[in-house]
Amino acid sequence: MQLFGRYDVVVVGAGVTGVVASVAAAREGARTLLVEASGLLGGLITGGRLTKPTGFVQPGVYRELIERTAGLGGADPDTRESYWGTYTGVFDPELMQRAIIETLEESGVEVLLFATATDVVRDGPRVRGLHLHTKGGPALVLAHAVVDTTGDGDVAALSGAGAMVGRPEDGRTQPMTSYFRILGVDIPRLVDDCRRHPDDLWELVVPEGASTNADYVLRFFMTGFTQRIERARGEGFAWSIPKNHVTLKTGLLPGEVNVNVTRVHGDALDPRQRTNAALTVRKQAYCAFDFLKRYVDGFQDAVFFDLAPVLGVRETRRIRGDYVLSDEDVRTEARFDDAIGLCNAPVDIHDPAGEKGIMVGVGSGYGIPYRALLPAGVDGLLVAGRCISVEAVAFGSTRNTPACALTGQAAGAAAALAARREITPRELPARAVQDALSALGVVLGRTADDRLAGDQVGAAT
Ligand SMILES: Cc1cc2nc3c(=O)[nH]c(=O)nc-3n(C[C@H](O)[C@H](O)[C@H](O)COP(=O)(O)OP(=O)(O)OC[C@H]3O[C@@H](n4cnc5c(N)ncnc54)[C@H](O)[C@@H]3O)c2cc1C
Repeated sequence: MQLFGRYDVVVVGAGVTGVVASVAAAREGARTLLVEASGLLGGLITGGRLTKPTGFVQPGVYRELIERTAGLGGADPDTRESYWGTYTGVFDPELMQRAIIETLEESGVEVLLFATATDVVRDGPRVRGLHLHTKGGPALVLAHAVVDTTGDGDVAALSGAGAMVGRPEDGRTQPMTSYFRILGVDIPRLVDDCRRHPDDLWELVVPEGASTNADYVLRFFMTGFTQRIERARGEGFAWSIPKNHVTLKTGLLPGEVNVNVTRVHGDALDPRQRTNAALTVRKQAYCAFDFLKRYVDGFQDAVFFDLAPVLGVRETRRIRGDYVLSDEDVRTEARFDDAIGLCNAPVDIHDPAGEKGIMVGVGSGYGIPYRALLPAGVDGLLVAGRCISVEAVAFGSTRNTPACALTGQAAGAAAALAARREITPRELPARAVQDALSALGVVLGRTADDRLAGDQVGAAT
């Protein structure tokens, strides 16, 4: 088998978590490789069009990316209030991808696209490298430390780490959803329709001056139409989606509306169910488009543009770590000596079996312990992003991009620091990671005094 190379740190998966982790590792001086199965950088935040960070974006690479995207005219630099709390602005996925490419290049991260991690090289409990599937055939890559940012915890699972999947009572996971885009929407008419039907809205955001379209801002964001969907069903409209509301947000193009409404229940780790989901979300998108044209003002001359290229998988494996962040920890705003970031992302759970969803604020937030990034029984490996060690309800919060970025920032720095000291990430004192994060201004969540203070929230982008 071909030896592709030897690195201090290999990060697997180039979603927001992997991008942040690899840049963080490279900036700590590590020779870093970022491996990605697809040809896209950003994973769900670009290819899935999940462009609204839910929760406070702490200092670090993710915030820099948003600021850089804003500088390119493709992100809303303002912090917004919602019915569940404060969130930071949306961005355009293509300009975000440009910001990612520039940042990776400047940081000296080597990127390998179209390469899937298929197995690990192990020396007892220690991961030493990876087997990759590439177009050139199988390849081997060796590393002092590996960071699993695959979202699905693929590398950790291949290493023999234990995993939790779904809710405790039946193992069912949150549904899959793909965004789609509509062009040619008459936004003022749409806004007017929403304003005339306040009872049928969960949320409506139309920032002051939005219609001028001078800068990229979230000119329109709404969730609702539950009554209208009911009415359509009553009138015989074939609404095929197991969801009772629609979320619409504008984009960079004039008359562009991004729609979040599709929903497919199933196990995204099962190849047949995943395939079925990819086909079904497309059929549901066509159904929702027909509904909007018929029942909502402003869509009458619109065209269906495209479905997001990356399937919107919310939940698969949660790798069992040295500590499992519990639902109770999130509820009680727990703080930890080894916390690597304070997270205030709300618990956002889409019903794994039905039509509803919950969005619950988490007050001042909770600390994410470093131990939740260390897969139990495996050395030389960290997990970050969607697949960290948390219980099912806690996952409803940690799956949000600000939390993924926090764990990516910590895991990348930890992997590099461990490589420099020639020790494993488990042997690395949490204090060393915390010092690196504190130097960036990250609020760690170690004690009750750690707060995402109002002035910091206001400064976020
Ligand atoms: C429909 C939907 C709506 C959401 N809404 C919001 C929201 O409003 N706000 C918010 O903050 N968050 C939201 N989220 C959550 C958030 O978008 C994701 O949890 C987050 O982006 C995950 O980032 P990640 O980097 O951990 O994973 P991903 O973005 O999934 O990236 C993982 C990457 O790893 C690659 N990969 C996988 N396996 C391998 C392998 N074996 N080898 C090599 N590469 C591999 C994949 O190709 C992918 O590029 C939403 C998610 C979904 C699906």
